[in-house]
Amino acid sequence: MDTLHRFSFTNLPIRGQWVRLHRTLQAAGQYRAYPAEVSSLLGQMLATVAMVADNLKFSGAVAMQSRGNGALRRSLAECRDHTQLRGVMHLTDDASFPASRQNIDAWLGEGQLALTLLPDEETGMQPYQGLIALENQQLGKCLEDYFERSEQLQTRLHFASDTHHAGEVVTGLLLQRLPNHPNSTEAECDAAEDTWETLIALAATVTETELAQLEVQTLLHRLFHEYPCVLQPAKQLEYACTCSTERTDSTLMLLGKEDLAALLEEQGEISVDCEFCGNRYLYDAPAVDRLMLRFEDRDNLQGDRPLH
Ligand SMILES: [Zn+2]
Repeated sequence: MDTLHRFSFTNLPIRGQWVRLHRTLQAAGQYRAYPAEVSSLLGQMLATVAMVADNLKFSGAVAMQSRGNGALRRSLAECRDHTQLRGVMHLTDDASFPASRQNIDAWLGEGQLALTLLPDEETGMQPYQGLIALENQQLGKCLEDYFERSEQLQTRLHFASDTHHAGEVVTGLLLQRLPNHPNSTEAECDAAEDTWETLIALAATVTETELAQLEVQTLLHRLFHEYPCVLQPAKQLEYACTCSTERTDSTLMLLGKEDLAALLEEQGEISVDCEFCGNRYLYDAPAVDRLMLRFEDRDNLQGDRPLH
């Protein structure tokens, strides 16, 4: 099972998160077979949205998405309800992969990467989107800058990938310096700052193999054994798609009556594949007729409303 752990250092304003994804990446790759580097990048994006979602105080979704003119045209990684992940990577057909495959900017080319918080409707909160500057070559480094700029929290983020016989395994380790407690003395603040510097230096010594393969308890002990650290219980993460007939109906209805009728005429049957899970939704002539009736219901409802 894929898991996320939080941890915190005793009496210090420093917290961390550890995520390992394997089954999620298997599920994401079941419908679209990704090259290892692409699966690894998707894993880093999914690990990030899982970590951000873990800190949310409200219900909703966190999404990271990109658009560019490089080999990776479009991507989306999403965490809903704190634990439900899904993601998709759209590559160019010609498979002209960048020379430096570890670098997010090489994959995107000219493009944009954004992180979006989408609170559920009942929270009454507005969505928020922040752009992640692509000034650094690795996604982890870009995100460190992003958290420092957008949340004023110093952050260190390390990722490691491991290729198993059953696909990629991605592990992420995050350390974050929280604001000092308002009642802290100057000496305590100085001590926290010194410890932060030490902890991030220790974290930077982690090798890719250690991060990719060690269990979280062993890793934390190996890196930070001189600093008492409390590890929270594992939170289970899973690949879950939110597609449904209802949502597909709504998407098709966006086309409008004429285009829908033309599409049915041209193809005999309309098929819509979910880009995340590969579920296929088929609409034969009677199914399209049912959608047409819904258009009429909707038009009638709108006709009943008073005109302003
Ligand atoms: Zn789906």
